[in-house]
Amino acid sequence: MSTNLTAHSPIGLDKLAEINAHSTSEVEQICLTAQAASKQWQQLSIKERATLLEKFRKKLFASRDEIAQLITQEIGKPILQSYMAELYPSLANLKYLIKNSESMLESRNEETPFITKATLAKVTFLPYGVIGIIGTWNYPLLLNLSTIIEALIAGNSVVFKPSELSWMVAQKIQQLFDQAELPKGIFQTVYGGAETGQSLIKSQINKLFFTGSVEVGRQVQTQCAEQGKPAVLELSGNDPFIVRHDAPLSIAAAAAVWGSMLNSGQNCIGTKRILVHQSIYTSFKEKMIAELKKLKMGPGQDWSTTIGPLRREKELIRCEELIQEATQKGAHILLGGKRAQTSYAGHFFEPTLIENINNDMRLWNEDYFGPIALLDSFETDEEAIKKANSNSFGLGGAIFSKDQKRAEQMALQLESGMVTINEVIWPISLPMLPFGGTKASGFGRTRGLEGLREMVYTKTLFARSAKDGFRPHYFQPASKWTSKIPKWMGWFYR
Ligand code: NAD
Repeated sequence: MSTNLTAHSPIGLDKLAEINAHSTSEVEQICLTAQAASKQWQQLSIKERATLLEKFRKKLFASRDEIAQLITQEIGKPILQSYMAELYPSLANLKYLIKNSESMLESRNEETPFITKATLAKVTFLPYGVIGIIGTWNYPLLLNLSTIIEALIAGNSVVFKPSELSWMVAQKIQQLFDQAELPKGIFQTVYGGAETGQSLIKSQINKLFFTGSVEVGRQVQTQCAEQGKPAVLELSGNDPFIVRHDAPLSIAAAAAVWGSMLNSGQNCIGTKRILVHQSIYTSFKEKMIAELKKLKMGPGQDWSTTIGPLRREKELIRCEELIQEATQKGAHILLGGKRAQTSYAGHFFEPTLIENINNDMRLWNEDYFGPIALLDSFETDEEAIKKANSNSFGLGGAIFSKDQKRAEQMALQLESGMVTINEVIWPISLPMLPFGGTKASGFGRTRGLEGLREMVYTKTLFARSAKDGFRPHYFQPASKWTSKIPKWMGWFYR
């Protein structure tokens, strides 16, 4: 049974548009079309696919203003962030993949020892067939498009189920693919919520890429395992942000504010638990408060707005609940901590800074989407690392220090997939760097060499000459000769 999806403005909560969700049988049929289309698509070389995807890149670039406005309208993201944190990295990623995928997926030849001398020992990378993508809404262009392009350029067709909270942006992506006149069926979008996601997993897809919460991610993982389908999971985070005694204080404070308030704090990687060396704790706190007070709340369409509303009420209620629990346990609100009073019906939350927090609180241990930064102090690097690692997540992390060598040593000890030094979040705009987490934050990668390789399976090819009869490993009658084999082994592997 298909239901309707309605998009509401995050500013005024008024209805923006409506669309029919896809039924299970429609999703099944779309996946079968994708299977057929992938057979043709795979026949093209990477260069030929890149040439066709270049047409899409040009369409995306030409529509950049319309798309930036649409992201802001649907998600509530301030317009500058729609350009800088969505369009710019998406275009960069497209350009990078179009230019480099051929060499990144190049097959390689291996040398083999004389005893099994090969005439061919080759490692090749082949597309899976159909990649299913279940996406989230907080970066509706960037996070979804990079995975879509990686899948396509590697030779797969794609069936994409966007979040029910960002389907208008997804509709625009589909429209651009249609206008770019790529072969029919290689990129298709199915609309809907959990039920449509379920239908996609059960349909004829060969691999799934899921971005979303830990809770749904685990369900999806189990279902994929039951069907023998591989899955990449990009899940939640609650990242540490370490400020060492020798940190560039003003840069670190500005970064902490940007990293926690960007996209109204609705980030998977971002700044959540800020751990500051005790010798600079007070001055860092004052700088952060001063920076936070400069933020301007309002509709994203206004270029002076730096913080917009939350996408939905669920996030706001969760922020309130987590803050209440933390304050009952002794946390102290330095700034904000509640719904903002505005003239809009949308769900605005005040930029918030909280101290006296610890790992006994849900704010420390759970994922949340909201403009809430947490402050804590440490005495030694070891203590900072211990605190940073003391929750179940492992997505990102940041360290601010003038001693890059020491920061790098510490970065290796943080249990997370990505660590930045004297920067936060921004490397997500660099398409050559893999993105993904460890621990409860998921596994597998998108972007970079590792991300592209997730879109292919490895095929090993081996051949030896038909004239080469030297095969001592085959069945041999016991003889003087075979009794010497243990001794010969020693010649090679002593
Ligand atoms: P969600 O898990 O509720 O939904 C994610 C997607 O899964 C949506 O498209 C949704 O429709 C679909 N879905 C929901 N239930 C499903 C089911 N039972 N079967 C199949 N599909 C189902 O998460 P959300 O609210 O959309 O996104 C917020 C979460 O995503 C946060 O926890 C955030 O940390 C995480 N996130 C992670 C990354 C990352 O790259 N690691 C990036 C952005 C967001």
